[in-house]
Amino acid sequence: MNKDAVASDEGSVLWALLPGMVVVAATGGSARHVSPEFAAFAGAQRETLQGSGWLALLDTASRLALLAALARPASLVLSLGLRLGNGEQRWLECSSCWMPRQACHVCLFQDVTAGRQAEQAALAQAQLLRLTADSVPALIAYYEAQTFRCVFANRQYARTFGWDEVSILGRTFAEVIGEQAAREISPHVERMLQSQQAVVYERELPDEAGRPRWLEVTLLPHVDAQGRSIAAFVLIHDVTRHRLAEREARESEERLSRFLQASAEGVVFHRDGIITDVNPPICALTGYALEELLGRSVLDFVPPEQRAKVAAVRAAGQDVSYESEVLDREGRRIPVEFIGRTLMHKGEALRMSIVRDLRDRRAAQARIHHLAHHDALTGLPNRMSFMDELDHRMGFAAGAGEQLALLFIDLDDFKRVNDSLGHMAGDKLLQTVAMRITETLRSTDRVARFGGDEFMVLCPAVRQLSEVETVAGKLLAAIEVPVDADGRLISVTASLGIALYPTDARSPAELIKHADSAMYLAKSRGRANYQFFDPALAHTAYAALVMESRLVEAIEHNEFVLHFQPQVRHHDGALVGAEALIRWQHPERGLLMPDSFIPVAEQQRLMWPLGQWVLREALRHVRRWREEGLALAPVAVNLSTVQFQARGFVEAVERVLKEEEVPGDWLELELSERMLMDDLPEVKAKLQRLKAMGIQISVDDFGTGYFSLRHLKELPIDKVKIDRSFVRDLPAAQDAAAIARALIQMALSLGQDVIAEGVEQAAQRDFLAANGCAEMQGELISRPLAAEDFRAWMLERAAR
Ligand code: C2E
Ligand code: MG
Ligand code: MG
Repeated sequence: MNKDAVASDEGSVLWALLPGMVVVAATGGSARHVSPEFAAFAGAQRETLQGSGWLALLDTASRLALLAALARPASLVLSLGLRLGNGEQRWLECSSCWMPRQACHVCLFQDVTAGRQAEQAALAQAQLLRLTADSVPALIAYYEAQTFRCVFANRQYARTFGWDEVSILGRTFAEVIGEQAAREISPHVERMLQSQQAVVYERELPDEAGRPRWLEVTLLPHVDAQGRSIAAFVLIHDVTRHRLAEREARESEERLSRFLQASAEGVVFHRDGIITDVNPPICALTGYALEELLGRSVLDFVPPEQRAKVAAVRAAGQDVSYESEVLDREGRRIPVEFIGRTLMHKGEALRMSIVRDLRDRRAAQARIHHLAHHDALTGLPNRMSFMDELDHRMGFAAGAGEQLALLFIDLDDFKRVNDSLGHMAGDKLLQTVAMRITETLRSTDRVARFGGDEFMVLCPAVRQLSEVETVAGKLLAAIEVPVDADGRLISVTASLGIALYPTDARSPAELIKHADSAMYLAKSRGRANYQFFDPALAHTAYAALVMESRLVEAIEHNEFVLHFQPQVRHHDGALVGAEALIRWQHPERGLLMPDSFIPVAEQQRLMWPLGQWVLREALRHVRRWREEGLALAPVAVNLSTVQFQARGFVEAVERVLKEEEVPGDWLELELSERMLMDDLPEVKAKLQRLKAMGIQISVDDFGTGYFSLRHLKELPIDKVKIDRSFVRDLPAAQDAAAIARALIQMALSLGQDVIAEGVEQAAQRDFLAANGCAEMQGELISRPLAAEDFRAWMLERAAR
């Protein structure tokens, strides 16, 4: 036991009289006396608490504070935290009295745990409140109403005005936000205090970085039980985001409206079909002022029959475009395109329709349509549109029991004008003719250019043929007037064919075809006239002329080929010659036989160039084969009357032989009986000149004409060809057999060779051979072959 402990013993009896929790401690903190109440409170033996034992109860901070206080010889009041033996946390309030005499502190303790806990809870509450206030995204403050001093402010509030949450306390409103601002705001404050109602206003206050910032301020009065406004809550929200969004929306709306004002397209806004806005082009389009349009139904401006469609599209809210019409103020229909769109505007679906004026586009389309339906050179309707018109008129005429006349006009020899004077003159001529035709006609008549130099005229409601004849005569006369093309006077005539509906045709195509053939009839009757369709004549004239026009091209385009048919001697099978036979490789109709085009060529003076071509081509082939070493006796070339009778024929043959460097005896010319019958001396002279060149002469189709024995005797003929019509019926038919035998005998008696053509069967061959016909040509040996095939045929025979 130390000295202090001994000294305490003196007063311990007295101290024991003190009620309550008492500890008597020396300045060093050592307890000289611990009351039973204190020990009971501590839940420990008094002995353990004696000396420094009691200090162990205290938490460190309390202990240090206590020791520091006890060290001074003065009374003290202290709050102490301690932990009991059972681990419970308690707070004691210690008030000590310094006893100078005993040099000790008499410490009286009071259990303040309950109060302390409440205090702590309140503190925690306050802290939580602070935390909450500092965490919410709002500025919060509380001002006392009498003095306008700040009692509470959250951190954001304080910082916004340049304070912190402590320094702001006690400041007046004006100090916090500035004199100027306070003056501005005071009306709101007044209002709030007077009305005792919340007041909301907005302030624009730049942030620290100087960016614009909008604050929404709510002032809430704090009214006490007596109904006095004792304070004001200030609640501030930063509404910058909303304001910016609003501004953006407003600007974009402004932009849209500026755009709409400036747009050339009409734009209509409507809600459930009721117009809410339009832009100026809509007013211009419809002729209505904006006020006249607002609030009206869009359907009021759409023609009745289109309303259902427009309404359906709108109701479906489809984003579609379609063509329709708009009625303007005068009730005129304007073709437009509607482009419907649904926009979300301020949270509601707003319908926007772009209204595009289609008049320009329609005009362009009309121009294109015109171009497609008219001939560019003359401006007249073209074939296509004429056909439509014709179809339409015929349909009408059929119903009305009306008669129509179709006039087909074709210029005579236009090709020559074009070729000799040039296309410019040709074009000028066509334009003038087109104009004159148009001028000659009545307004109800229709005219078209059908291509090239062909024009069509349709006269409706014809009562008498004489009317049509008058028109036709006028047209021919008008066309014939000379045309001034670049100072040169050109004149053309036209051939005109007329077909009538319903007399001549049922369909437009047939009517045209018949007018066409009537036109060809006019051509064949000397041109420069008109003809009505005549079913009896149409066929021949038409076919021939169609062929003629194509034949010229065929010559130019080299569409002809030669086939070769071998001629063979019976007893030894020797190749004695070949006949060149022309074919037309027609681009559409295929390989055409000579019977279908030779008569036309003869009629149309085309036989001469065609004949020359055959001659040259045959000789070229023969020379090539000869050069190859193929032993081919003369090639036989058929002549037509036109060729043989032409002046200069012999010279022409001579020239070709020379040019092709072929000797005359490689050539045989086949003439028909008829050619040889005309002027005997002249024919004889020609044949002699040909023979003088070494050319052989044969008589084709022998037996079919009126060839007399006298002719046969007098003319220098080498060979006769028994016509295949006699050969065909051999040997069974008695007549044929008799004629064939006689023909062969006649020729043989004159010392001429005989060849039979069209030999198809062995029996025919045997009969002919038995009767002295040594040479044969026909399918039994070979059908006519293309040049290459004929060459192969010869090679094959040579190899045998
Ligand atoms: P053509 O001169 O009497 O010619 C013989 C005709 O008989 C050819 O007809 C030939 O193909 C045909 N033929 C040959 N073998 C047989 C056979 O076994 N049976 C039958 N039924 N017929 C056979 P294609 O080639 O049609 O010629 C017909 C006519 O056309 C020729 O008769 C001739 O007059 C004329 N021709 C052909 N080529 C020319 C030519 O280049 N110039 C001229 N001016 N006329 C020609
Ligand atoms: Mg022949
Ligand atoms: Mg013949």
